[in-house]
Amino acid sequence: MQIILLGPPGAGKGTQAAVLSATLKIPHISTGDIFRAHIKGGTNLGVLAKRYIDSGKLVPDDVTTDIVASRLNEEDCASGFIMDGFPRTIPQARMFDEMLERLGKKVEVVINITVEDSIIVKRLSGRRMCSCGRTYHIDNNPPKTEGVCDVCNRSLYIRDDDKEETIKERLKIYHKQTSPLVDYYQGKGLTMNFDGSKPIEVTTREILDSLKKTD
Ligand code: ADP
Ligand code: ADP
Ligand code: ZN
Repeated sequence: MQIILLGPPGAGKGTQAAVLSATLKIPHISTGDIFRAHIKGGTNLGVLAKRYIDSGKLVPDDVTTDIVASRLNEEDCASGFIMDGFPRTIPQARMFDEMLERLGKKVEVVINITVEDSIIVKRLSGRRMCSCGRTYHIDNNPPKTEGVCDVCNRSLYIRDDDKEETIKERLKIYHKQTSPLVDYYQGKGLTMNFDGSKPIEVTTREILDSLKKTD
């Protein structure tokens, strides 16, 4: 199944993607995670991406789309994927459609998770990340041991872009450049809407129930 997760920063895309990926047995692909791995590894792409990410801006469409194209060629994508944080602009969505068409595939479901801006700053200020892709929250979804990942035991870290000023810029960009994708996919009859302000497990259940109905 080819799934896209759409929603503002902090909506819970990464959190839901981890569970969906384990349940549906398809890979979780996060462009944000790929960029962060490059930043950590000090690659040229990492250096370029960091400039945009730390100021809350989007990495240019051509760079981002190239990364997704090469990730899709990997074997584990054969039976589907959960795209988390891509596409984020209309040009990316168009390039993604073309890319999938060449592979004889298409987007099947778009899971749109909505949360009000006022909740998002609080959520992202308490977010803690693991380099394995797991995401925690100091109050809403704490790890079993403070500061340590439940899954891989690595130390959790705070993202450089999860500070209030940058969060506000990211929200502005979301409303301007990414939110039009809701209509783009609605027009194709693919969008399913979920209220991301409910508890994590409730949203997971609602998503899995809706996916069952599309089978
Ligand atoms: P996104 O990938 O959309 O940016 P995350 O999945 O990283 O969002 O979630 C942002 C923060 O909010 C994380 O700290 C996460 O633990 C927490 N979170 C996610 N979903 C919920 C929820 N339904 N209720 C409360 N907190 C949540
Ligand atoms: P969040 O879900 O909290 O907004 P992500 O981890 O998805 O964070 O993305 C972090 C940053 O990486 C974004 O603010 C942006 O700078 C960059 N990024 C991720 N995905 C894309 C994309 N599809 N297009 C452009 N930039 C992206
Ligand atoms: Zn981990």
